[in-house]
Amino acid sequence: MIGGCDAVALAQRFGTPLYVVDEARIRRACREYVQSFAQYYPKTRIIYAGKAFMNTAIVLLVMDEGLSIDVCSGGELHTALAAGCPGDEIFFHGNSKTPSEVELGLDAGVHRFVADSLDELRLIDAIARSRGQVANVMLRVTPGIEAHTHDYIRTGQIDSKFGIVIPNGDAMRAVAFAQNLSNVRLTGLHCHIGSQVFDVEPFVDAVSIMMDFAREARDQTGFVIEELNLGGGLGIAYNPSDEPISVQELAAAVGPALKGAAIRCGMPQPVLMLEPGRSIVGDAGTTLYTVNVVKHIEGVRTYVAVDGGMADNPRVALYQARYDAVLANKMNEPLGETVSIAGNCCESGDMLIWDITLPRVDVGDIVAVFCTGAYNFSMASNYNRHPRPAAVLVANGQAELIAKRETYADMCRLDVVPPRLLRACGHVAVGDNA
Ligand SMILES: *Cc1c(COP(=O)(O)O)cnc(C)c1O
Repeated sequence: MIGGCDAVALAQRFGTPLYVVDEARIRRACREYVQSFAQYYPKTRIIYAGKAFMNTAIVLLVMDEGLSIDVCSGGELHTALAAGCPGDEIFFHGNSKTPSEVELGLDAGVHRFVADSLDELRLIDAIARSRGQVANVMLRVTPGIEAHTHDYIRTGQIDSKFGIVIPNGDAMRAVAFAQNLSNVRLTGLHCHIGSQVFDVEPFVDAVSIMMDFAREARDQTGFVIEELNLGGGLGIAYNPSDEPISVQELAAAVGPALKGAAIRCGMPQPVLMLEPGRSIVGDAGTTLYTVNVVKHIEGVRTYVAVDGGMADNPRVALYQARYDAVLANKMNEPLGETVSIAGNCCESGDMLIWDITLPRVDVGDIVAVFCTGAYNFSMASNYNRHPRPAAVLVANGQAELIAKRETYADMCRLDVVPPRLLRACGHVAVGDNA
């Protein structure tokens, strides 16, 4: 059961593969952020990192919980606006904005641009000047912390395409540069120290490094930090052995750390901003698949091949991500064999789960893979011309589509055949318009 809906019935009604999104879990995660930080640092703004699951309905849902939206492309910006998100609730990220994306951001009146380089500062300033506007901009800097799950390196992450490095002086030069631009107003600093982070220490360290930097920047350039954005990165439990910290623990550590740092640095408390993605939508998603093939290789392993794979969940191939799953139609049957769940793409690396113990698997069973709410739907591709799956929102026993399943015709929709090719092949017409 997911959100009061029978998963097997969902698979029958909507087909597979199917992304199932539990509305109550997303709402609960949003509230945990809003309430925990309200308790420990009232001047906090929670911004949903849209890239985790960017879709019109999801934007509306998190907005309804009072979150702002972080977008990192013109397409994400368009989606947020299409959902009715006011420009003033939008933060425009990305490390390689085009002039037309900056124009779109200014048209929309985004609350903040987050600039990632001197070239972006120049671009935003030039376009804002040509329109007679002043753009509010935060600067993304690299505090020299690299955190991932339990790995935490204090001097890492300087060699990164993201941000402007603090330790070598680049970030200070960028602040001074921004301060001298006529059509950019520098409002604050941003950092994002990693993803799937399981400890509070890197966040607490980031607070003190960022505030120390802000104080030096004030002394050297006169810049006054109004806002400190700590990015996202809080981890979630993909598997029973994962033990992430709670949002409450994060707030209880970061709130007082920032208050203390402001006092220590003799600066007013800045507005704190957080940009969670995975920890808002990750565990709200479950992907349902149908088993097509059970292939036993004696003495080696059993491959269970399903009707989706790296096209709808590239994280296993990209990051060796480890997922947990069950057979939705055999929840009460005893565990039997250890199998490996393979995808349906023409790549040996297209696996969903290596070595998982399930009840005896048969063709037609429904595999439910957990924790697929973040970076699945949004990273899906049409590799092998697999149509992207539908997504349904479930709540209180009701299921509603939030994204239609792509059709085969959608695969060809943007294909163009030059007439000369048509003539050469002797065809009268080709494609769906035939
Ligand atoms: C990816 C990203 C986030 C969200 O990260 P999660 O790990 O999903 O919380 C937030 N801010 C920035 C700048 C990002 O790149």
